[in-house]
Amino acid sequence: MPDYIKQSWQYRRHHERFVRFVESKRLPCMDCHGRGGRVEVILDDGTGPFEACGWCEGTGLMTPMARGQWLSYRREAKRAIAGIAQIECIP
Ligand SMILES: [Zn+2]
Repeated sequence: MPDYIKQSWQYRRHHERFVRFVESKRLPCMDCHGRGGRVEVILDDGTGPFEACGWCEGTGLMTPMARGQWLSYRREAKRAIAGIAQIECIP
């Protein structure tokens, strides 16, 4: 059985270090545009629970390494979408 108390302590310690690091770099998160997350719309009036962004851990700031990963992830996704579009264009 995993040690949840230890895990949450480790996560908190990691998150504190993460916050200090990203605040020194001042790079806004590319995925949530520095908002720290997004509202998951589930109700008709456009409201719902706020979901923290996984790329910046809800801080709105990202590490230079995470930015590099995000950019290559986006490139891959665009290539995959272009591939699907090409397949659909074949007569
Ligand atoms: Zn983010």
